[in-house]
Amino acid sequence: MRRELLKTVKRVVIKIGSRVLTDDDGALDMSVIGRICGDIALLRERGQQVVVVSSGAIAAGRSELGLTDRPKTIPQKQASAAIGQTRLMRAYEEALAPHGFKAAQLLLTSEDLGSRQRFLNARATIDTLLGFGVIPIINENDTVVVEEIKFGDNDNLSAMVTNVAESDLLLILTDVEGLFNADPGRNPDAVLIPLVQGITRELERAAGGSASGVGTGGMASKVAAAKKAGRNGVATILIAGKCPGIIAAAMRGDEVGTLFLPSEAGLNGRKHWIAYTLKPAGRVTVDEGARNMLIRKGKSLLPSGVVEVEGRFERGACVRVCGPDGKEFARGLSDYSGAEISRLAGHKSSEIEDILGYRYADVIIHRDNLVVMP
Ligand code: GLU
Repeated sequence: MRRELLKTVKRVVIKIGSRVLTDDDGALDMSVIGRICGDIALLRERGQQVVVVSSGAIAAGRSELGLTDRPKTIPQKQASAAIGQTRLMRAYEEALAPHGFKAAQLLLTSEDLGSRQRFLNARATIDTLLGFGVIPIINENDTVVVEEIKFGDNDNLSAMVTNVAESDLLLILTDVEGLFNADPGRNPDAVLIPLVQGITRELERAAGGSASGVGTGGMASKVAAAKKAGRNGVATILIAGKCPGIIAAAMRGDEVGTLFLPSEAGLNGRKHWIAYTLKPAGRVTVDEGARNMLIRKGKSLLPSGVVEVEGRFERGACVRVCGPDGKEFARGLSDYSGAEISRLAGHKSSEIEDILGYRYADVIIHRDNLVVMP
């Protein structure tokens, strides 16, 4: 089954974690980078396109700055990323050059991808680079972001990149062999799970919230990334990145690491962007009737179904839609601002103009802009 799936892959996003790229002292490990670039070159020669999401800037900068510990303050992290990013790119250039390939750098922020126009610009750039046979290497633009507006980690970024780059597969290179049924560091009986069909809550719980000392994401963020990519119809394979030959083995369809299959048909790219790239700016609580219409009938959200609105947001913002139990069940782009919705709540669409003095639409969220969340 894996082999069949892997045969269809034309474009893969390879996410490489800091732990994979660095040695025990925290410096860039050129032998690993060389090996990974050799594998990337082989994939390209077989006609598969590769987009890399690479961490390692902060780690590389740290050793350049002579810091013994992982930088703690945000400005220190940003300074480390600024000096490390150029080292990181040089390492990729040097490792790709003997194979006749070139690297290109793309530094993105969550605000960039939150703008549909910039998102599409990034997509066009990636397409063009791939057309030239260049390997795009993407990282977060750490120097300009602070915690609140970060992607969170590069696992999350790589899942978004499967949509930006319209890839068929996400390959996550990390420092463990895959997903285990328990923490292999603490439990010697832990066994590797080779296949995950649908990510359940138990699985998410089992993945826990561990974070390693070098990269930012733990197993939980890998599982979250696989889930996000899955909603884009994209499978994810999690493998131990330092292991020689592992990329080729995974791409051949060998039973290595953990394969996460998408549980359902993917959302279209724009809906995936609404649900997983935009940051919600507020929440709209609706009654049970409206919840049913949205989930079961795929209808738009009308003002009559709205009970409450929270958050200051403008027309066009992404908002969470919650049921009477307070749980989010959908996300969408609002046709009205938060202040406007609070005046329209519970009223009929035909009353909108009387209440506001103008009318943008008959609905609060149009179904084309609404995504029911799993
Ligand atoms: N952008 C960070 C770096 O390059 C890494 C973030 C992460 O690994 O999640 O150092």
